[in-house]
Amino acid sequence: MTTNTTTALAQLDLIAAHWTDLHQLRTARPHDAWPPASLQAYLRTVEEYDPSDRSAPVRLHVIDTIRTVELVLIPLADHIASRIQRPVINAATGKGWSDDLHRQAALLSARDSADPTRWQYTGTRTGQHAAQWLAARLRQQPGPFRPLNLREVEEIQHIAAGAAERVEHALGIRRRTVGTGHICGCGGELFLEGGDGRPPTLVCDACARSLTLADAAA
Ligand SMILES: [Zn+2]
Repeated sequence: MTTNTTTALAQLDLIAAHWTDLHQLRTARPHDAWPPASLQAYLRTVEEYDPSDRSAPVRLHVIDTIRTVELVLIPLADHIASRIQRPVINAATGKGWSDDLHRQAALLSARDSADPTRWQYTGTRTGQHAAQWLAARLRQQPGPFRPLNLREVEEIQHIAAGAAERVEHALGIRRRTVGTGHICGCGGELFLEGGDGRPPTLVCDACARSLTLADAAA
């Protein structure tokens, strides 16, 4: 298994593991928004503060993320399944056969169709299920599939990277840095670091002075 495959697997696992969190966050109160409202309020009291485009409510962002991830992962699973998933074993019916061999063939066909490892092209399909199914194919878990070829692995890697990044951003589990447009006492610009669940910090890019949000509000 290559490094890239391992990375794609970690990304798909992350999406599947946090899918429930995403749905819960969809209805969460906007106090989880990042940058935190308290910091924005603080900066606004210091001087005129332009929140630019970072003031969008977090819920819209989360709903957008769920939709976007499903819009790429489900069609990707459809596409990959259409290439690697063996069609259901067909037992001809309706021809009046009642012999034991035909009965067994019909049973085999029904069992093959109901195989839970199969990707279903219809019905309820979620981003979580698509991520799990694609991860299982990268892990070469058994089922009615041929192995992925290099191009298919690359297609999955490409999509998984973007989808995982969106999920991490929506959940606030990736630490980010944004400029605040505010100037430190030394003349450098203050940057805000946070978004990963740990306390946000204001850091000067020149003198490396660092303030927690609590310090800044004091
Ligand atoms: Zn400074």
